[in-house]
Amino acid sequence: MLKKAAPLFMFFLITTVMIGCSFWDEGQADNRLQKEAEQVEQDRDKDVHYEGTSEEISASLNENEAEETEEGYVISADKINEVITVDGQAVIQNPDNIFANINREFLLPSDYIPDDLVAPNVRFSFDEDVEKRYLREEAAFALEELFTAAEEAGIELFAISGYRSYERQEVLYDNALTNHGADQEVVAMPGQSEHQTGLAMDVSSRSNGFALSAAFEETDEGQWLAEHAHEYGFIIRYPKGKEEITGYDFEPWHLRYIGTEIAEILFENDWTLEEYLGEVTPI
Ligand SMILES: [Zn+2]
Repeated sequence: MLKKAAPLFMFFLITTVMIGCSFWDEGQADNRLQKEAEQVEQDRDKDVHYEGTSEEISASLNENEAEETEEGYVISADKINEVITVDGQAVIQNPDNIFANINREFLLPSDYIPDDLVAPNVRFSFDEDVEKRYLREEAAFALEELFTAAEEAGIELFAISGYRSYERQEVLYDNALTNHGADQEVVAMPGQSEHQTGLAMDVSSRSNGFALSAAFEETDEGQWLAEHAHEYGFIIRYPKGKEEITGYDFEPWHLRYIGTEIAEILFENDWTLEEYLGEVTPI
């Protein structure tokens, strides 16, 4: 019986090997996180880096997307969230929008993965090539400029956490629920995290023990960031005193890329993204 079965077994074994290793891969990658990591790896292997020069990227940003007029602030209508309601929640239909407003009210689709993720060439607090190392191309370029400027000012920043997939956020949220109960002001629900856009990077310093904590505000690095991030198109997305508006605790470490035009408007007016969108006129 065993002897008869052996050739059959060999046939299946050889067939499996000929088809490729996909069976083995699938056996191992039984969770979607693994697949996402592989996707990021593949993107990296394509040697995707910045397709445009800094001038080309900033020129593309200046095409009537946001500006100040005599009547006030205006914005291209296509830069406002387009939403549909799914299970009572507003789900963003144009998630690639660089001005996308993600919060408790507006969610990203669960299957949204930015298609231009790259690893910025900046100092990280870790060595692994994992998804949190990645940002969208435009944001990655701007982060490099920000880190270079900081360096020149004698400020040593460390990137801690960038892109985060929907699935990874699900894991973090579930863990937070288990450990702390439903503390939504600290950990975003899946779909509500800006990190899924690939436009957010958490930053800290050696002086703050690489921690993402409110104490970062008091460090030289935190203060430099609060004063200069907007010059490179980033905002401190969850400022102190605006918790009721953003729905999040103060996070001096959480940078959101939004382009220099809006970042400067927000900085000058001391506005959150929500406050700005309440003032601006879509055209
Ligand atoms: Zn963050």
